Amino acid sequence: MRTQLTNYIARLFAGDLSAFGGPATDEAVAGHIRAEQMSLVLGYSVGIMLANACNAAVLAVALRHSPDWAFALGWTVVVAGAAIAFGLQSHLSRRITKPQFVSRRAMHRLVRNAFMLGAAWGIVPVAFFANASTGGQLVITCLCSGMLAGGALAFATIPIAAIAFTTPIFIGIAICLGQDGDPAYVLMAVLVVVYGTVLLRAVFVNSFVFARRVIRQIEADRTVRQDPLTQLPNRVAFNETLDGALKRLALSGEEFAVLLLDLDRFKEVNDRFGHPGGDEFLVQVASRLQRCTRAAEHVARIGGDEFALVMANLVRPEDALGIAERFVAAFTEPFLIEGCEISGETSVGIVLAPRDGNTPLDIMKNADAALYRAKKAGPGTVCFFEEADDKASRDRKALQTDLAGAVARDELFLVFQPFLDLGENRITGFEALLRWQHPSRGLVPPSEFIPIAEETGLIHEIGEWVIRRACATLADWPENIRVAVNFSAAQFHNTGVLQTIVQALADAKVAPHRLEIEITESMLLSKYGSAASILNALLELGATVALDDFGTGFSSLTYLRKLPFSRIKIDQSFIRDMLVQPDCAAIVKSVISLARDLNIDVVAEGVETADQLEYLRQISCDEVQGYLIGRPVSAVGVQALLNSKKLRAIFAA
Ligand code: C2E
Ligand code: MG
Ligand code: MG
Repeated sequence: MRTQLTNYIARLFAGDLSAFGGPATDEAVAGHIRAEQMSLVLGYSVGIMLANACNAAVLAVALRHSPDWAFALGWTVVVAGAAIAFGLQSHLSRRITKPQFVSRRAMHRLVRNAFMLGAAWGIVPVAFFANASTGGQLVITCLCSGMLAGGALAFATIPIAAIAFTTPIFIGIAICLGQDGDPAYVLMAVLVVVYGTVLLRAVFVNSFVFARRVIRQIEADRTVRQDPLTQLPNRVAFNETLDGALKRLALSGEEFAVLLLDLDRFKEVNDRFGHPGGDEFLVQVASRLQRCTRAAEHVARIGGDEFALVMANLVRPEDALGIAERFVAAFTEPFLIEGCEISGETSVGIVLAPRDGNTPLDIMKNADAALYRAKKAGPGTVCFFEEADDKASRDRKALQTDLAGAVARDELFLVFQPFLDLGENRITGFEALLRWQHPSRGLVPPSEFIPIAEETGLIHEIGEWVIRRACATLADWPENIRVAVNFSAAQFHNTGVLQTIVQALADAKVAPHRLEIEITESMLLSKYGSAASILNALLELGATVALDDFGTGFSSLTYLRKLPFSRIKIDQSFIRDMLVQPDCAAIVKSVISLARDLNIDVVAEGVETADQLEYLRQISCDEVQGYLIGRPVSAVGVQALLNSKKLRAIFAA
């Protein structure tokens, strides 16, 4: 009971409208309503305090012939001085950005100040009315009525403050009128009560309407500024926070940092578990990230798997690094999605303002560039923006523009790298590898331009060119030689790709079984989309499918059951280390034996030494590919390679 009463009183003096039967809210919303109420009052406060000071001066002048003049002058000096000081203080404490939350204590202070000012004015009729001249009495009556009306207007959204301010004045008037038996004063008392009731009633009605409007606005704000999935602020909210930080930077030099994060394996998770699993992953990531930040700072989700944080009032760049490292560490523990443990990772790019930019555009562009470098360095990397990133990002843009016209300008060409069958000791085919002869940069490696082509969608046009050119080249090779063509996952999002392949085979008049499609694991994971159905259609047509870079993705052997692969290509990283690291050798051996049981051939990628070749022979690897057998060569070089002495020597081994 007692705590209920204390709680009620606390709510009452905090301006909480539920104390008067207004809308009930939780503390977060109540704090937001207080912020709005306070900002309205502070908005008027300078004018109101000036009016108070003027009124006090007017009173002193009106009472100059009264016997109470000395007291009135003292009163005026105190009230006018306090009003001017308070007006100045509230002007200086005006925030650059409106706070989103105001504490109960701040509201208590406002109510207390309102009461003190009201009490000062309540003294006036009691102390000065009786001895004042008729003119003086008229002035006091006008001032008190004006104060009542002005106070009600100033505190129109905070009934408790309006009550705290007007009550002492009402009491003062009541005492003053009650001292005299004049019936006119009784009439005046009635009028004051009527006016007071009307004013306070208006204050209540107005404040309830105001609070309901703020609540509706908070709800609308939530939908506009909050990501519905993770409940984190969204891009709109992030942009506003960034704008606020830039304003503070301009006005007070307050430095800040922006941290940009991108999940390294979100796409794989999304593909493997579908959208509900991907959503669950994001929700878990969001809550882990939010726990890493400083109080009152919120990570925002600004894109599918992109998160960002504005760190205001940055004292040292190391503080930003500290938070970034906490973000990275938040991924150490695996995530539990649909009962499976999934390891996620993130990279972080950091920009410092104003050092790295002072416009939203520059800051985000540079954060992107820093993040790009972090991602390139590998998952879990944190990079501060550096001048060179800017150059790298401009370079990338330029490369993008150039790539758009590369097919038309005939700058792309294919090279072919042989597969050697260790059982038959003969070359069974070639992998077509794309090259770009840039007019000024020279030869650009596919690792640089394929990701750009994928991001921009140019991969469809380029991929079509590759398959057509590969099939056309294949037409000139002996019947028992195949060509393997690499496909990006993005190409399979376009169902037209099947038609393109069929058309390329038909135009070149080559049998479909001579074409092998190389795909990576990530493409198989897709529960959705058309990848599986397109690959099945290709298999029905007679083409074969190889699983490229095996061991580098999720490396789950269950994927091998998803499609009837004709080949697995063990990634070159395992081949490179298999003679020095026993675990690599164990993986290579077990993949080969598993593949044999599943009736799938194995190609070892990246064979560079005779020892590696010998070992692969011993463990019955079916085919090998690598610089030892042959580097990628032009179409013209293929025939020469087929007859090469070096290869014969390898066959004979
Ligand atoms: P990939 O399909 O795994 O191709 C093998 C890469 O390893 C090739 O690099 C090849 O030159 C290189 N390589 C072959 N043998 C050795 C070796 O003994 N040692 C070493 N260190 N490397 C070796 P390249 O040509 O730079 O291609 C890189 C990647 O670019 C390819 O990896 C493939 O994923 C992609 N790519 C190439 N051409 C195309 C294309 O036409 N379309 C698509 N979507 N991707 C392509
Ligand atoms: Mg390949
Ligand atoms: Mg490969």
